[in-house]
Amino acid sequence: MSGGRFRNALKRTTTRVRGSRLRDARLRAHSRHLLRRLEPPFPFSVTTLCEQLGELRGSPVRLLPWELPADGPFGMLISRDNEDVIIYQANTTKAHQAHIILHEIGHLISYDLAGERPAALSLRTCYSPAEERDAEVVASTIMRVALTVGRRAQRDGLEQPWRSSVYNSIVFDGG
Ligand SMILES: [Zn+2]
Repeated sequence: MSGGRFRNALKRTTTRVRGSRLRDARLRAHSRHLLRRLEPPFPFSVTTLCEQLGELRGSPVRLLPWELPADGPFGMLISRDNEDVIIYQANTTKAHQAHIILHEIGHLISYDLAGERPAALSLRTCYSPAEERDAEVVASTIMRVALTVGRRAQRDGLEQPWRSSVYNSIVFDGG
């Protein structure tokens, strides 16, 4: 590869990385903003989070456990005109189910943010790597913030952990 071509390739890669970092930062900020708005109760529950999201979005987010084939996806999101349905593997642990559901919530939140709500029934199981990354960024942000705020609330006996100034100091350092 010549010097010029190498520099161009490097530039493309750098732009791509910077682009996805910005995208991640935007998704993380949006997820934290959503949590603060919803103020989910502790102990944190993904079921409650789905109910709150449904109320906020004006259309329910339903959860449906299903005995999915072991070699297929663990979860899927079905978006319809009036509701979104998250189907998740019935044959696994509660902790794994919570992760699957959060991942699908991640898809929902990231396409809400992008304004990409599908017009009609759509079964969203085929995602691009970028969409998968978005979903994981949202899911991991929600999990991390909920765990951190929950722990602090318990340790310091906070009654309204999402409203305290403590929350600000947690979520704005480091991302
Ligand atoms: Zn996914």
